[in-house]
Amino acid sequence: MLQQTQVKTVIPYFTKFVKKIPNLKSLSTSNEKKVLKLWEGLGYYRRARNLHKTAKILIKNYNGKLPKKFAEIIKLPGVGEYTANSLSALAHNKACIPVDGNVKRVFSRLFLIYESNKNFHKEVKKITNKLPNTNRNADLAEALMEFGATVCKPKNPLCGICNLKNYCKFYNKKIYISAKKKYYFKEKKYNIYCYLNKKNKKIALTKNKNLSFLANFKMPEAQMVISNNNLKIKGWNYLCNYKNNISNIKMNINLFYKFTKNKPKKFTWHSIDGSNVTFIPSFTKKIFKKVKKLYV
Ligand code: SF4
Repeated sequence: MLQQTQVKTVIPYFTKFVKKIPNLKSLSTSNEKKVLKLWEGLGYYRRARNLHKTAKILIKNYNGKLPKKFAEIIKLPGVGEYTANSLSALAHNKACIPVDGNVKRVFSRLFLIYESNKNFHKEVKKITNKLPNTNRNADLAEALMEFGATVCKPKNPLCGICNLKNYCKFYNKKIYISAKKKYYFKEKKYNIYCYLNKKNKKIALTKNKNLSFLANFKMPEAQMVISNNNLKIKGWNYLCNYKNNISNIKMNINLFYKFTKNKPKKFTWHSIDGSNVTFIPSFTKKIFKKVKKLYV
């Protein structure tokens, strides 16, 4: 849950989740709809699906335990190098360093490796691979992350009180570098078309491959457009324009609707309040809220 999401946002979801699904066994036997329902509102639903798949694999193939070998951990759904390193270090006390943004920054400063260096990631990795042996690998991994978050902070690192300052090239050369990468996400423009049944207060929904991050969920027709300035589209009424940011996608949306009894074949009718859809992502909920105004 904490992947790309802040602790304070996660806490109520986590508490609710473990109340309903308290252990690995119950997660493996829960159906996907239940898991997604508990995740509803937290976004990045792929995490929930992967967690669920992983629980099944662990129960079926590993007797409900995390495999010992890194090569097996990294094969679990949703587990990349960072997570595999974290799990190996924290659960099995293996000499693995999860290199997150904090750890990268610490080593880039200590050894003065510039982010502009083509081999930045490899260079940092080389250093973390050479760290001295310890029998407290779990503590070391945790400590490095905490150190980056609390002492060697992105802005205003606490060099004055830092125990590593005598070895730190950044501190000794007084050169400011930052491993923090800035991402600029380009806005994408979408038109969303809602088929509405006025009499029954229904909206037609379908699975839409045009929005790959929500490909498994039902929603109205959505099309990416080069320019969404054209608000006159034959057969459709323009309702409103709004912004919706999902993960790293900034969406600028024009919402269109038409009242009709007919809908394309691949669509099914659903109550406008979403009551007969098991799981509704917040993206679709927002659309429901906007079109509901048309029924007042
Ligand atoms: S001296 Fe400053 S820059 Fe160097 S590791 Fe310590 S806090 Fe980070």
